Amino acid sequence: MNDLTVIAGPTEAFSDAPFEARHLVNGAWCDSASGEVSERLSPAHGLVVSRAARGTRAETDAAISAARAAFDADDWSRRSGKERATLLLKVADLIDRDRARIARMEVLESGKPIAQAEAEIEGAADLWRYAASLARTMHGESHNTLGPDMLGVVLKEPIGVVSIITPWNFPFLIVSQKLPFALAAGCTCVIKPSELTPSTTVILGGLLLEAGVPAGVVNIVLGYGDPVGIALSTDPRVDMVTFTGSTAVGKHISEAAAATLKKVSLELGGKNPQVIFSDADLEQAIDAIAFGVYFNAGECCNSSSRILVQQDIADEVIERITAMSRSVSFGDPLNPATKVGAIISPEHQAKIDGYVRAARAAGAAVPIGGEILRVPGLAGQFYQPTVVGPVSPDMPIATEEVFGPVLAVLTFRDMDDALEIVNGSAYGLSAGVWSENVHTCLEFARRAKAGTIWTNTWMDGFPEMPFGGMRESGQGRELGRYGLEEFLETKTLTMRIGKTRGAWVR
Ligand code: NAD
Repeated sequence: MNDLTVIAGPTEAFSDAPFEARHLVNGAWCDSASGEVSERLSPAHGLVVSRAARGTRAETDAAISAARAAFDADDWSRRSGKERATLLLKVADLIDRDRARIARMEVLESGKPIAQAEAEIEGAADLWRYAASLARTMHGESHNTLGPDMLGVVLKEPIGVVSIITPWNFPFLIVSQKLPFALAAGCTCVIKPSELTPSTTVILGGLLLEAGVPAGVVNIVLGYGDPVGIALSTDPRVDMVTFTGSTAVGKHISEAAAATLKKVSLELGGKNPQVIFSDADLEQAIDAIAFGVYFNAGECCNSSSRILVQQDIADEVIERITAMSRSVSFGDPLNPATKVGAIISPEHQAKIDGYVRAARAAGAAVPIGGEILRVPGLAGQFYQPTVVGPVSPDMPIATEEVFGPVLAVLTFRDMDDALEIVNGSAYGLSAGVWSENVHTCLEFARRAKAGTIWTNTWMDGFPEMPFGGMRESGQGRELGRYGLEEFLETKTLTMRIGKTRGAWVR
């Protein structure tokens, strides 16, 4: 595979001392009572980059108590929108100040490229600013049409204590899609980051303290799904769980939360198709296909890991995406020229490889990639840019989330055929359509079952635009005013004007 663009390492002599990550409970940093610690190796370099306290039920219990007490004290939840917004804006400024430090830590724990990480942290600060604007502008509604003697008011109130459980692929960005919105609403929170990428959430905790967040309003417990995540989903003192992660764990959380009827908001997996019609602008589409599948090494809920190509242009598209794949730079994530970094863990690398091997064994062509990538000078795990296809719609590589830099190419005859394949998936996170005909784009957009549809573009996102999945891709929405709404209860206030309408009994 000499014809791939590989960025060898190491870009620099590696001298970072491992980050020491501790729990944040009731405004103070603490270790686990058990004294247990987990070490994290950089996925690219194979060196220890952080040591995190490994939480037990004891720390989780203390964090939930702190969040409950802070909420019930009615201080944070009853502060004015202006006060809450002021704190969120301060946090945004601190994130900007520390962008380089946060981005570097994100690279060391997740393996993503430094230039991308910096853009994500910049985007995260913008989410804090957007949530601040919502804190000041949210409101309920009034009903002045209920008759001359009645006035109705709909109040919006914070839902209460929120558990926030996040994955490893966009650790800082995803916590920033949830926490500032929950805080804007007036909720108090307990956060559990992924055990693989805890440190940037801990850095965020430090920034919150610096900005003056009251004790107990934001708590962080580090550790694994069992026991920390389970306790956060079952404890009766928690009012809501917001989770981003795999569909399998999302189902467990939904079940666990049902016992106490907590509200559950789930951002789960996807098998997101881009559908390329014969009249598409292929120059644009091919670049978007490469971006869609290789961004974040394909470890992205929005990864476009399958494309559907109209039959008469299938050979050309496979040829062109194969050629473009050779120019995408894979390698050392600390090099600013790298576009695709390391794979999160050796186990995950083996899982990606398993999907490609199974497809090859079933007869699918692999015009490029399909092997573990060795990056000179680096001990971590990588995977080659890989194109597989054409494949049939029922193959696991065409239906399941591979979560690696692996593209499955399917073909279709016409709109109905394409929609049958697109909507035949259990997932419904996002989908895209490429055509120069606006009618084709609009018909696809209305008939495809997915939370987000992109026409002639891929993966553009904005704080103003809601994001979330249909079917097994999740429930609830993040971002936009809908993202705030998730953290609010609705209270109906019905008021009589003047004396009662007359006795019910006499
Ligand atoms: P994961 O489901 O394995 O873990 C996510 C989080 O849940 C981690 O913090 C983990 O410790 C915790 N957890 C594990 N078991 C738990 C349990 N029983 N109860 C409570 N918490 C538990 O997911 P991952 O491997 O970290 O992330 C990859 C997955 O996330 C992919 O499926 C991806 O599609 C999805 N994802 C979705 C979105 C979205 O917005 N839709 C965004 C990013 C990632």
